[in-house]
Amino acid sequence: RSKAIEVKPEDISVTYKDVGGADEAIAELQEIIQFLKAPEQFAQLGGHIPKGVLLVGPPGTGKTLLAKATAGEAKVAFFETSGSEFVEMFVGVGAARVRDLFEQARRAAPAIVFIDEIDAIGQSRGGVMRLGSNDEREQTLNQLLAEIDGFKTDASAPVIIMAATNRPEVLDPALLRAGRFDRQIAIGNPDLIGRVEILRIHSKRVKLAADFDIERAARMTAGFSGADLANAMNEAALLAARHKAVAVTLNDFEVAIERVVAGSEKKSRVMN
Ligand code: ATP
Repeated sequence: RSKAIEVKPEDISVTYKDVGGADEAIAELQEIIQFLKAPEQFAQLGGHIPKGVLLVGPPGTGKTLLAKATAGEAKVAFFETSGSEFVEMFVGVGAARVRDLFEQARRAAPAIVFIDEIDAIGQSRGGVMRLGSNDEREQTLNQLLAEIDGFKTDASAPVIIMAATNRPEVLDPALLRAGRFDRQIAIGNPDLIGRVEILRIHSKRVKLAADFDIERAARMTAGFSGADLANAMNEAALLAARHKAVAVTLNDFEVAIERVVAGSEKKSRVMN
């Protein structure tokens, strides 16, 4: 069986109002939502039926969040999985999981299937030194391609596949060929306005001091990803709670920023 997590439409708690600084990506995804909401009408109007969307960007920029929020907007089922879950030792296991995933999705259609780190399956063939045997990897990738090609223009059971990667250059060109991941959406770290939006979203859950200046907080966090901003806001709330304050101040946030920066430096040291 596939290890994908299925979330039913009524259980998806996020929509685009939970995603900050991603207006362009959201605009590009409107077509997908129109298709999922009214596939027959979309087909009748002669719209090019979308199949796959590849979200490209560094870690923590909200790719998973954006995919889930797209399902939330369209009110369709969401299947979440990661490419690494298909990388197996034994030939055929990964391919069977892919088949199973799409079977599940078709049964639950309309649906979005999200595959994080698709490069774990979709790496260009012919390289050396990879995890899993080459035969296994090849079969898994072939099965994925077959599934994408298979669910053509089926307006009665629409399934859209969204995938994410931060290494688009290693993907097998077959995945990017027309009719597969025919749309690529780049997502980068947020600019100042984006950071203001993201901080606003994540400050809803905390009590900010009356004089907490969100724009100043955004200016202090140039280069932060959405995930970094969420962490900083969370850390600031923990600090405030620790000194038994009634609200989070900009000073708490400044200390929190340092912790988030220190934390990610530690992480990258471990990885290097
Ligand atoms: P990875 O590539 O590491 O899986 P990702 O790009 O999928 O990362 P998410 O897992 O979606 O990033 O982001 C982690 C968390 O950071 C989100 O659940 C959310 O709380 C916060 N976050 C990230 N980006 C945004 C954003 N644009 N707006 C609001 N919150 C965000």
